[in-house]
Amino acid sequence: MTPSTLYFSPLLTDWTQPVNRQLSAFNKKVQWQVIDEIQQSPVSSILLVAEQDLQQTDWPLLASRKAVVILDNWRLPASVAWIERGATNCFARHDDNLISWLVSELSRFALNHAERTEDSVLQVIIDAIPTPIFFKDHLHIYRGCNVAFCDSIGFERDNIVGHSVYDIAPKELADKYYHADNQLLAEGGTQRYEADVKFADGSLHEIEFNKAVFTSHDGKAIGQVGVMLDITERNQLIRQLDKSSHTDPLTGFENRRAFNQVIHREFDQLESSVRKLSLMTLDIDFFKHINDRFGHGGGDQALQLISEWLQNQLRDTDSVYRVGGEEFYLLMRDTDIHTAYPFAESLCKNMATHLFTIKQQDIHITFSIGVIEINPAIELENTLDMVDKALYEAKADGRNCVRPVFE
Ligand code: GH3
Ligand code: MG
Ligand code: MG
Repeated sequence: MTPSTLYFSPLLTDWTQPVNRQLSAFNKKVQWQVIDEIQQSPVSSILLVAEQDLQQTDWPLLASRKAVVILDNWRLPASVAWIERGATNCFARHDDNLISWLVSELSRFALNHAERTEDSVLQVIIDAIPTPIFFKDHLHIYRGCNVAFCDSIGFERDNIVGHSVYDIAPKELADKYYHADNQLLAEGGTQRYEADVKFADGSLHEIEFNKAVFTSHDGKAIGQVGVMLDITERNQLIRQLDKSSHTDPLTGFENRRAFNQVIHREFDQLESSVRKLSLMTLDIDFFKHINDRFGHGGGDQALQLISEWLQNQLRDTDSVYRVGGEEFYLLMRDTDIHTAYPFAESLCKNMATHLFTIKQQDIHITFSIGVIEINPAIELENTLDMVDKALYEAKADGRNCVRPVFE
């Protein structure tokens, strides 16, 4: 007979000797190995565990071993409860039926690994699908998976099937999956959620989990199937698309679409806060002349240089948007008109004295500026009209100047 190892929990230490004597009498030789935690016993091994040694956190692992719970006083309801939690069997400490059960197990030496489905048509089908797929029973034990799932978590199928999630994932992650599984089994139907998952090669993936409960003919939940759709690339594309739809490619500034979103959001928050928000509208003076003199490419270069210069003038709380060809909005947070106006003046002066070099020629460029403090009591559209009007006044008054709106 091939020797086999029986694993047992600490409270059974004294009890193993009489059991061992009885097994020897039936010519069954075994090795005994005490364990402090269930995880120290291999999946599918025979594990004898005293009821008092079991913590609730051990329950998810019972079904992945041939766990036999030993009670001091055997009661049928308690026995059934342990079996429903995943134990293979439940005996009283001095019950000879345990001996016959062990003899039967050892005779067959059938550490019955989970059903093998490698050769089945279903296995071939799911292996052909490049998306990770797994299924588990109602006790959360993996009963099958495809190649893509094995590859993603970096385990052979034999090290997954028959195992609890606690055998293959770190405890923190296993807890998360276990609770999600529990919820799905209790509610039935399907479940979809997104989570970040680290694959075996260390790469991080954004995964959409699609899970569904399967039921027995009487409608009882008997397990669940999960499909892990990798949406990393899709999400990256969406983020890229979103960014480029809000960004001006020439200057790198955000565009009018972005401004409209931000200004409405900030305006709504303004009503319920004491914070101040000011807005500047800046238009380059006689920009057509720059295009006429340097060509459209030279004009583009001027716009880039002006944008770079402008960016360097700003405080951390300011945001600038290119809202037209040579027109910008500057949103100034935590800034009232008494700060925004002198800031606009200094911006205007600094711009006029700065020398820009375009096609090896130094030129001065000026801005006309309108500036306003946003009042939450006034409709936003009116405020935008007023600051635009102030800009036209600056143009009409000779350009290279600031016109503030004071209420
Ligand atoms: P004003 O002082 O009244 O603002 O005069 P302006 O010439 O700056 O204003 P106007 O609105 O008449 O003309 C703006 C010019 O800016 C016209 C347009 O060809 C040019 N422009 C707009 N966008 C771009 C761009 O992306 N690149 C280049 N090179 N030129 C642009
Ligand atoms: Mg202009
Ligand atoms: Mg303009």
